[in-house]
Amino acid sequence: MQKINKENLHTFLNEQKENWPLAKMNYSGLEKVEEKEFQFEGFKIKVQFNPERIKSTAAKIGKDDIQKRACFLCEENRPELQTKIELENNYSLLVNPFPILKEHFTIAKNDHIDQSFINHIGDLVNLAETLEGYSVFYNGPKSGASAPDHMHFQAGENNFMPIDTEYFERKKNYGKLVTWNGRFEVYRFNHYLRKMLSIEADRAQDIVSASKIFYRFLEKVQADEKEPMLNAICVYKNNKYRLHIFPRKQHRPSQFFAKGNEQLLISPGAVDMGGVFITPRKEDFDKITKEDIVDIYKQVSLDDLVFDKLCQDFTKLVMP
Ligand SMILES: [Zn+2]
Repeated sequence: MQKINKENLHTFLNEQKENWPLAKMNYSGLEKVEEKEFQFEGFKIKVQFNPERIKSTAAKIGKDDIQKRACFLCEENRPELQTKIELENNYSLLVNPFPILKEHFTIAKNDHIDQSFINHIGDLVNLAETLEGYSVFYNGPKSGASAPDHMHFQAGENNFMPIDTEYFERKKNYGKLVTWNGRFEVYRFNHYLRKMLSIEADRAQDIVSASKIFYRFLEKVQADEKEPMLNAICVYKNNKYRLHIFPRKQHRPSQFFAKGNEQLLISPGAVDMGGVFITPRKEDFDKITKEDIVDIYKQVSLDDLVFDKLCQDFTKLVMP
C-alpha cells in the first residue's frame, strides 16, 4: 500500500502555490473567504462565500456541454504549470486550483472514463488509506461532479467539514445501528437534515462489500439513472475505515433555478453534504437562512420513506 505522508503533500502544495500563479492567487484568496455558521440541535452547518467556485457551482453538465469542452482533467489539457504526484491504480494527485479547503486536491484517473462509484469504490477506500487522515470524497455524475465524464475524487484536510469532527458525538447520541455482521457496522442518523449512511470496518474489503450491497438497493430506487445519485466521503484513521454515503434524489434545489431575489446559487456536492454550503455569490451568502438549509437538504436528499425502506432491506439481508 502506497502511503503519502502529510509533509510530502504540504511540500507539493507549497511548490504549486509558488510556481503556479493561478494556485497562488486562489489559495491566498481562500485565506480571506468569509464563513459563517448555523447551529442546529447537536450539529452545525457552515456557509462559505467563495467566488472562485462559480465555475463549479454553475457548471453545465449536459451531454452536449460536456462534449463541446476540452476535459480539464485529461493530462493533455491540463495547464502546463500543474504538476502531479503519481498514485497507485493509475491515478494522479493534483492541486485543485479552485480550493474550498486549505489543502484541496483532485485525484484524477489517468484515463478519460466516466465517473462511477461502483466501479471505483475499492479505489476510494484505498486512496483514503494512501492519504491517511485526509477526507477523500466522491461526487456522482449528477450529484455535484463538474467533470462527470472523467473519473476523479477529491481530498482535503480532515477537520474542515463538520461531519469530520461531529461524527462520533453524533453516533453516540443519535446514531442508529442499521446492520452489522462482525466485519462491518452500518449506522444511520435521524435529525441530521440530510440522509447519511455510515459504514465502519477494519478492513478495506469489508467497506467495499457493504457499500456494494447498499448500492444495489439504491440502484433499484433510481432504476432510470445510469448511477443512483450519491455523494461519499471516506476516511482512514486509527486503523479504521469510515465511509459516509449520502443518497440523493436531486442535483440542484429549486432555489438554484429561481429568478431574482428568490435565487440561491447553490449546487450541493460532497462538501455541502458534509456540512459546508458553498455560495459563490456574496448576496446568497448574506441572505441564506437556516430555513433555506433545511429546505435544500430536504430537496436534494432521498425521501424519508425510501431511505427507511433501504435501511430495512439492508438489515434483513445482512443481520446474522
Ligand atoms: Zn478527461
